[in-house]
Amino acid sequence: MNKEFIVPLYWSAPYQTEVIARITSVRKNELQFNQTLFYPGGGGQLSDTGSIIYLDEEFPIIETYKDEEGIWHKLDIKKNITFQENQDVLLRLDWSKRYSYMKPHSAQHLLSHLFHKMNNCDTEKANFDELRIEIELSKNLAVNQILKVVNETNRIIEQGAEVRSIIVDQEEYSKEYLSRTRGKKSKEGFVRLIELGGEEGFDLVCCGGVHVKNLSEIKGVFLESKKEHTLKFLVNQKGLLFANEQRGLMLKLEEITTKKGEKLLEIVENKIKENEILQFNSVNLLRLIFQNIQPYCKKINGYSFTSFTLPEIDRLHIQSAAKELDSDIFVAIHGRNEILYLISTNGKLPANEITNTLIEKIGTKGGGNKGFAQLSIKNVKEPLQLVEEIISSL
Ligand SMILES: [Zn+2]
Repeated sequence: MNKEFIVPLYWSAPYQTEVIARITSVRKNELQFNQTLFYPGGGGQLSDTGSIIYLDEEFPIIETYKDEEGIWHKLDIKKNITFQENQDVLLRLDWSKRYSYMKPHSAQHLLSHLFHKMNNCDTEKANFDELRIEIELSKNLAVNQILKVVNETNRIIEQGAEVRSIIVDQEEYSKEYLSRTRGKKSKEGFVRLIELGGEEGFDLVCCGGVHVKNLSEIKGVFLESKKEHTLKFLVNQKGLLFANEQRGLMLKLEEITTKKGEKLLEIVENKIKENEILQFNSVNLLRLIFQNIQPYCKKINGYSFTSFTLPEIDRLHIQSAAKELDSDIFVAIHGRNEILYLISTNGKLPANEITNTLIEKIGTKGGGNKGFAQLSIKNVKEPLQLVEEIISSL
């Protein structure tokens, strides 16, 4: 390997928290050193923070980043001070923060490996913070498939596996490693590889991040959420808290339904189906009412008006049934979740104008257009009566 390549300390000694370094460059409140422990961010991992001790004084390092000139350490400086090049300083890493990034990042390597191995599914994107891993997969997997991967991840974590850092030049990389590298290939002069499983490694990727020495340090991974291709996982203490909170919710649900496990799932699915049928029937009924609404309308101030309470029907269904209304009619509906819906087919009586008057009067939120508007009527007494009063006072 070419001897000119200096391996950064965050690669060669990821558990080292302090080092003496020499200032090599100064740019306003940003410094460069001959060596650094600070990871400059990238690959979904945030940059390191910490502090420097310069002439017996400590200054916080609030950000680290890399540009074409090298790695810059941004300082938070409250007073007027000039940093001298060639001066020795002590660099001190915020270790608890760094270590809490290393764990989810390393866990992501394992998760991505298993998604690939068990489901032939690639990781398109990955991000981390102290507690959470976010992975965007190339496929929309079923919850059961994801849980199998999570179980296998936790089994390997429990068993432990070495995480090895390998740095080679492009020639050696192409010859020895390229063919068995998962994910993106590297074109850099020097390639940093991370292998899970030590000597008989089972996963190899190009990665410039910082990792734990052994996967057993992670403790455990918990599935937090799934939205199509995007999965979120929690690690460590936060993960345990989350898992217990979720279990608490399930226990409450079990209490309400007096069912457990698959039976609980069945009863919830049945209830949803029943509700869909009820909604469907209610909408049909509402359509019928809207088609034959004239006899139920009264004249207020010359306008055809009617109102009713429908606590079981939501906005979309009311809107869809409202298409059946004849012209020159104004309807007020006290609907689900204390929402008042105003529907107008009378151009002279726009629904949004009446809504605005009501909003002014009762101090609430709402909006809409000439034909359909809605507003919240929490704690409002006799809202339908109020609409009548407004129309009669026009
Ligand atoms: Zn990595």
